[in-house]
Amino acid sequence: MNIILVGPPGAGKGTLAERLIENKGFAHISTGQILREALANKTKVGLEAKEYMDRGELVPDEVVTRIVMEKLKEKEIQKAGFILDGFPRTINQAELLDKGLSSTSVRLDYVIYLEASEKTIIRRLSGRRICRGCGKNFNIYTMQPKKESLCDACGSELYQRDDDKEETVKNRLDVYKESTEPLIDYYRKKGILETFDGDKQIDDIYSDIMRVL
Ligand SMILES: [Zn+2]
Repeated sequence: MNIILVGPPGAGKGTLAERLIENKGFAHISTGQILREALANKTKVGLEAKEYMDRGELVPDEVVTRIVMEKLKEKEIQKAGFILDGFPRTINQAELLDKGLSSTSVRLDYVIYLEASEKTIIRRLSGRRICRGCGKNFNIYTMQPKKESLCDACGSELYQRDDDKEETVKNRLDVYKESTEPLIDYYRKKGILETFDGDKQIDDIYSDIMRVL
């Protein structure tokens, strides 16, 4: 079974992907990771991507899609089934992916859409605090440390990532709404979209998903 995860930042995609991988044996396809692999292995398309990066340019969608396709076509990945997380992010990428898939026997079974309210997202992300010592995550709203600003596990100081500051979270949400949200309709029209309530606790979201898959 092959799955794409879509949803705003903070909807729980990462945690959910981890669970599905751990419990169901899916292969995780993260574009960042496979791009690094392609660069390290100096594959043809990896070298092409490197040219753009060396010039300080974004790797074009068409090249990223080819790197993703190379990975999806691997026997082991096909056997395990994959979870694509963080790709496609735009309609253009989705169309390129469909085009790439059409010449293979690989099919997308579900697009899992985690729908979460802005309130939930801002609480989850802007409330997140990370331990400088051991990297453990806390949340000042939902998972408070026993002592303010200190890690329960190792006693080190907690900090907030720049990415999680409220202003930045709002910008990330704007980018998501503009470029990624149109994907929801795109996949709905294809009849493979399944929507889940990302405002729920992750355990409940996971059970909801298990009822559908
Ligand atoms: Zn710690």
